[in-house]
Amino acid sequence: MAKPRISFEYFPPKTEAGKDKLLNMTTTALNELNPEFFSITYGAGGTTRGATLGVVSAMSEAGIDVAPHLSFGGDDEDAVNDLLDTYKALGIKRLVALRGDIPSGMGTANQLVHASELVALVRERSGDHFEIEVAAYPEIHPESNSYESDVQFLKTKLDAGANSAISQYFYNVEAYFYYLDQCAAAGIDKPIYAGIMPITNYENLARFSHNCGAEIPRWICKRMESYGNDRDSIRKFGLEVVTQLCQTLLDSGAPGIHFYTMNQVEPTSTIYKNLGL
Ligand code: FAD
Repeated sequence: MAKPRISFEYFPPKTEAGKDKLLNMTTTALNELNPEFFSITYGAGGTTRGATLGVVSAMSEAGIDVAPHLSFGGDDEDAVNDLLDTYKALGIKRLVALRGDIPSGMGTANQLVHASELVALVRERSGDHFEIEVAAYPEIHPESNSYESDVQFLKTKLDAGANSAISQYFYNVEAYFYYLDQCAAAGIDKPIYAGIMPITNYENLARFSHNCGAEIPRWICKRMESYGNDRDSIRKFGLEVVTQLCQTLLDSGAPGIHFYTMNQVEPTSTIYKNLGL
């Protein structure tokens, strides 16, 4: 069996101290696990442009494979092209191409509308230089009109030149495998890596999941609620649930896992070790 692909996601820290910790302590620990790459999120509309670029260039200079996210949001094509040229000059070889969510009050003067158009723009500007990842939604994107159209739009992004997809996080393993089957039936033959969000804080997770359309199963909600402020029990339960989820994914043929690390070594590192990878 091929070794599953493992990757780790960061968001750019807001402070210099946060950036130092991320680059020195967190990355040193997580890099020992030999991930294929680290990806760095990008605030749609350029809200983290400098911060994302700062983390990307520091990691790239340290010889680490790093994949900037590029979510155009309210950015226009010129801003996207400038970033592409900068990343190419830095020797970056992989991008995560996204539409992003346009921050309120930013307007919609940009010409790009869907992520598939960004993928086409990257290919037009940079040929085959970048490996391109796009986003996939096993529980369906919240703005989608239908299950079928969301699958078709994933196909459009891949047909526009993306190499593979990373999924939104989920806790229903059946939703992921059903989605893979539906994608295969629609003619998608590129890998769709499973995005995994470790569980550490129930309130934050519940709020975020509501916004991005990821379902937390009722039994997990009830269990977490019953722990109240007992953070140790929440952490222990989260480790068990997410390790089991990852194990089932890998045993059942998922091509790899992309961990939303939230810039923390734990619990990602322990889950990884529990899997015996
Ligand atoms: P699209 O693929 O453009 O899809 C958006 C919606 O439009 C979907 O409902 C889709 O069904 C529909 N659609 C697509 N094409 C068409 C079409 N041709 N006609 C009509 N409808 C269409 N956000 C950030 O701001 N920064 C990040 O760094 C970031 N990283 C992420 C990483 C991953 C792995 C994932 C899963 C999400 C990430 N997001 C990020 C969130 C993402 O930007 C949002 O989910 C956003 O709302 C959709 O982006 P998309 O690239 O999937 O858009």
